[in-house]
Amino acid sequence: MQTFVTDSPEEAAGYLNRGETVAFPTETVYGLGADVFNPDSIAGIFTAKGRPSDNPLIVHVQNPERISEVAGEINGAARLLIEKFFPGPLTIVLKKNRSVPDIVSAGLPTVGVRCPSHPVASAFLGFCNHPVAAPSANVSGRPSSTDWKTVYHDLGGKIDCLLRGEQSTIGLESTIVDCSVNPPLLLRSGAVSIESLRELLPEMKIATSCMPGEAPKSPGMKYRHYSPEALIVLVESPPPSFPEGEPSAWIGLSATPEGAVQALRCKSPEEYARVLFGFFRTCDAHGIRRIYCELPPEEGIGRAIRDRLFKAAGD
Ligand code: AMP
Ligand code: MG
Repeated sequence: MQTFVTDSPEEAAGYLNRGETVAFPTETVYGLGADVFNPDSIAGIFTAKGRPSDNPLIVHVQNPERISEVAGEINGAARLLIEKFFPGPLTIVLKKNRSVPDIVSAGLPTVGVRCPSHPVASAFLGFCNHPVAAPSANVSGRPSSTDWKTVYHDLGGKIDCLLRGEQSTIGLESTIVDCSVNPPLLLRSGAVSIESLRELLPEMKIATSCMPGEAPKSPGMKYRHYSPEALIVLVESPPPSFPEGEPSAWIGLSATPEGAVQALRCKSPEEYARVLFGFFRTCDAHGIRRIYCELPPEEGIGRAIRDRLFKAAGD
């Protein structure tokens, strides 16, 4: 299969409307989309990524009015979140409509819905006839793609179209809140922080899958995720030195220790989130064997970074 690369949201939507798979930029990470109501196209996503079929996809809509095309009742908690955080890096899980094929929801009675704020994503979704089901645009298990070249590296020749855009500004996948249960349940941490969610939903619970080291409870969380080839070493502060003879890398907020072959010192947790997956990929390209990752403070987006680091380390 040849992958057609374009800068035109309208052209990319044409591919999608014809039943083909299209990778597109969003503010969180790049997505690999297909028409939510076309099970054959959706199957193409699973094949291209090598994704297990019991891992549901997030459905992307251009604006909140279109949520009713895939979800039933929008309850009070969901309404509050939609009003405050849509469009943006938040996915809400709702009871699904019958029209949503099982392949999208992995057989669950629910559907995850997100409305991206990225202007190219928004334009693309506006040209699509139906909502777009999309997981992250990477080979399953690998770090999510935050730029179009990485998408091409992983999926070139396996998908029909790639809509090119800028690098993702957030760099980590969306926060997910399950609103189909009472009280609502945080399933995945992201740029929309627990602190800001709790302002609206003080009763919200946190799934064990969001707790580093805990057994996963939500779909999709049980798989190895976000992993580079190198061994991930999690540290609270920089090591005094790196082991001899093994090319090592450093990423964190503190000053870079001596002897790192690749290194990134981030000015803020937001920058750390934005560059993390790209750094993993760079390290792989340079044959790095160990990546020392500094755990950021457990607040704001720091919590999401920690979550991805623990999962990448195979914890
Ligand atoms: P990805 O963006 O590639 O991480 O894939 C979407 C993720 O969203 C899945 O791995 C699930 O963890 C989550 N998700 C999607 N739909 C649902 C749902 N109906 N219920 C719970 N989690 C969901
Ligand atoms: Mg993913």
